[in-house]
Amino acid sequence: MSDCIFCGIAARDIHGRIVHETEHSLAFLDVNPLAPGHTLVVPKDHYARLDDLPDELSADLFRTVDELVPRVEDAVDADATNVGINNGPAAGQEVEHVHVHIVPRFEDDGGNP
Ligand code: 5GP
Ligand code: ZN
Repeated sequence: MSDCIFCGIAARDIHGRIVHETEHSLAFLDVNPLAPGHTLVVPKDHYARLDDLPDELSADLFRTVDELVPRVEDAVDADATNVGINNGPAAGQEVEHVHVHIVPRFEDDGGNP
């Protein structure tokens, strides 16, 4: 989709700090991180909602998230992570392209984001 930021990052038209990619998924650092290492994982193709994603892309996306969680934790020496999706505007989704947040958490970091 031409006016979608995450499609632009996937196409390398918009700068993104890409940390990993697979055939169908891309991971890059959030431009406004809730914590150091806050990473977004997206399907390379444009789908607005989780339930729009074909099974193959959904499987690739969640496999990628599963692989990246320990790597993100190691990279910033986190104690844990919040892993989540804002699925729809009423749930806080601002970018209408499916994305999974991986937010590193630290002991005594002051509570949930
Ligand atoms: P949402 O609220 O839609 O779940 O989260 C969207 C996320 O995308 C936010 O955490 C926001 O900081 C991030 N974001 C918005 N625009 C950009 C951008 O241009 N580049 C990157 N890397 N992240 C972005
Ligand atoms: Zn898009």
